[in-house]
Amino acid sequence: MKEQQVIRLALPLPLRKYFDYLPPENIDFKALIPGIRVQVPFQQRSLVGILVSVENKSDVPYAKLKRAQAILDTQPLVPEDVYKLCLWAAEYYHYSVGEVLASALPTLLRKGKPAILKVRKKEEDIAEKDTALELNADQQFAVQQINQAKETFQVFLLNGVTGSGKTEVYLQSMTEILQAGKQVLVLVPEISLTPQTVQRFRQRFSQHKILALHSSLTEQQRLQAWLMAKSNDAQIIIGTRSAIFTPLAALGLIIVDEEHDASFKQQDRFRYHARDLAIMRANMNHIPVVLGSATPSLESMLNVKRNRYQLLSLPIRAGVAQLPDFRLLDLRTLPVQEGLSSELINMIRVHLQRDNQVMLFLNRRGFAPVLYCTQCAWMAACKRCDARMVYHQHPERLQCHHCDTRSRIPEKCQQCGDTRLQPVGLGTQRLEQTLAKLFPNIPLIRVDRDSTRRKGEMQNLLEQIANNSKAILLGTQMLAKGHHFPNVTLVGVIDADSGLFSADFRAAEQMGQLLMQVSGRAGRAEKAGVVAIQTRHPDHALLQLLIKKGYQAYADNLLGEREMALLPPFSYFAVFRAEAYVEDNVKNFLTIIRDMLPNSLDTLQVMGPVPAIMARKKGLHCQHLLMKTNKRSVLQATLKNILQQLESLTGNHAVKWVLDVDPVEV
Ligand code: ADP
Ligand code: ZN
Ligand code: ZN
Repeated sequence: MKEQQVIRLALPLPLRKYFDYLPPENIDFKALIPGIRVQVPFQQRSLVGILVSVENKSDVPYAKLKRAQAILDTQPLVPEDVYKLCLWAAEYYHYSVGEVLASALPTLLRKGKPAILKVRKKEEDIAEKDTALELNADQQFAVQQINQAKETFQVFLLNGVTGSGKTEVYLQSMTEILQAGKQVLVLVPEISLTPQTVQRFRQRFSQHKILALHSSLTEQQRLQAWLMAKSNDAQIIIGTRSAIFTPLAALGLIIVDEEHDASFKQQDRFRYHARDLAIMRANMNHIPVVLGSATPSLESMLNVKRNRYQLLSLPIRAGVAQLPDFRLLDLRTLPVQEGLSSELINMIRVHLQRDNQVMLFLNRRGFAPVLYCTQCAWMAACKRCDARMVYHQHPERLQCHHCDTRSRIPEKCQQCGDTRLQPVGLGTQRLEQTLAKLFPNIPLIRVDRDSTRRKGEMQNLLEQIANNSKAILLGTQMLAKGHHFPNVTLVGVIDADSGLFSADFRAAEQMGQLLMQVSGRAGRAEKAGVVAIQTRHPDHALLQLLIKKGYQAYADNLLGEREMALLPPFSYFAVFRAEAYVEDNVKNFLTIIRDMLPNSLDTLQVMGPVPAIMARKKGLHCQHLLMKTNKRSVLQATLKNILQQLESLTGNHAVKWVLDVDPVEV
């Protein structure tokens, strides 16, 4: 009997289950197509859910079922492949399907607004055109291999040194696919930082509609972009990690640029990895996926060794550009002035005299990382985090880089009352000040989160760089990513040591990647480049390996170490992260989970609960329970079981927790 039918919905709630409702009154049952949005009452609220199925019976007694308020769509909103991807991701990351599906929708659709594509005015042609470059042999081979894989699932690792012409390979592998009327999805780490990349796509494919999904789009623009992608009104979609959920009517190729970049992993709530989902989506759609990087992740390198991915190498720089020379500058023996060794200062002078640009890299913004009492060694600390307050100038204040607490500079020490307080250590603002004294007539362009906070400011700084001949660019890793600065001939790394001795097993990998990315900014055009690395450990074996043998040898060495220690990618991690205002609550909660874990499995190791590296953040105590396995299926089955038990557990509301599968920070 029709009246008995119930609709099963995925709701944007943390519970890992579906919810049954009665269909709205007087509804035509033909309108109940899985994938449409349905508005329903939930407790005191109204929620927008996605219809999963129509059922003949429910576990909930019929009399208790509530009635849905409205059907919001006539057609399924989420296409089948995105829907399947969401189901897969919900299962893999152990997250609520309803929330995963909701995160795949633009905010306006999540709020129940209609999905109507507006008619677009024909736009002016946004760029000057350019034509395809003549490829070198390695590039040609890469493009040909990717083209051959059309309509089959295959993963390519395009490993090319910086400036080797990876972008040109992307562009030329897209050509045939676009001509066939298909779409290309391009994932990049940070779109607002790399307007040049988007510009190159626009210049090459001016006859196609290109969407750049950057963070300054309005909600309405985002919705329109989503609808255009869905209807194949746009052919090229460039976006950051969340773009992996964009509906694409005719997806033909996925490109993940800078595949090693940690920003592809979402670091809160639904902790998916966009690169891994890209591979899954390509698999579901029977299409090729290209992972590009000058410094591939160890995960991808291992997949090449195991013949799961096909390696495409671009070992030399395109055109006339040469790879830079490395110099290690020993901070223990050279005279040092505010963090700059005499040798580096000389090198800067020489390069500027030749009318070239110099880029200095320091991964610490602000003026100084510590405000220190010269009498009693007190240091200004954040009240809410286990962290020091960073000294900032313009405006002058203390700032916590973890919770953004800001305060005035104290006039006296809060421990002994002495007024002789001193900023200690080096941040980009202090470096800028020192450089201004040393090189008074040279333009200084600082690029960090503070100098680019306002909209359009990054673009402005990039233009200043392009418009000046000699200049000093200084900044954090924002400067390291993707930019093409043809006049930079000297790259200086102010402090290479932080990555050498870290508690995180990925630190060495990340340091190597960052150093190579930074050095990749030197000598990208006709002019040869030099990279000067300041360090207190010039003999460190890893540093030596990296600069003498290159990233490949360095990464091979790290892979060897990981294999011996049975660390990822030779094993798999998952971590429960819990936080609460009361430390005991966190510990007790994680102990409950630990006690749920079977203790007889030799395939599963459990560590913890242990305090996080930053044990208190924003006033919350953070602890971890780490699980490690060499059998993913064992881990997944165990987690599923635990989560079911956790959901029936009551009284843990004081503890906020999340499960992180394949964490990138441990
Ligand atoms: P990557 O993405 O690997 O850093 P790009 O694609 O940005 O490298 O290329 C670096 C520079 O080399 C660009 O200026 C690009 O125009 C140029 N280039 C790329 N391929 C070729 C080629 N086959 N011949 C000449 N120049 C090239
Ligand atoms: Zn003091
Ligand atoms: Zn803080």
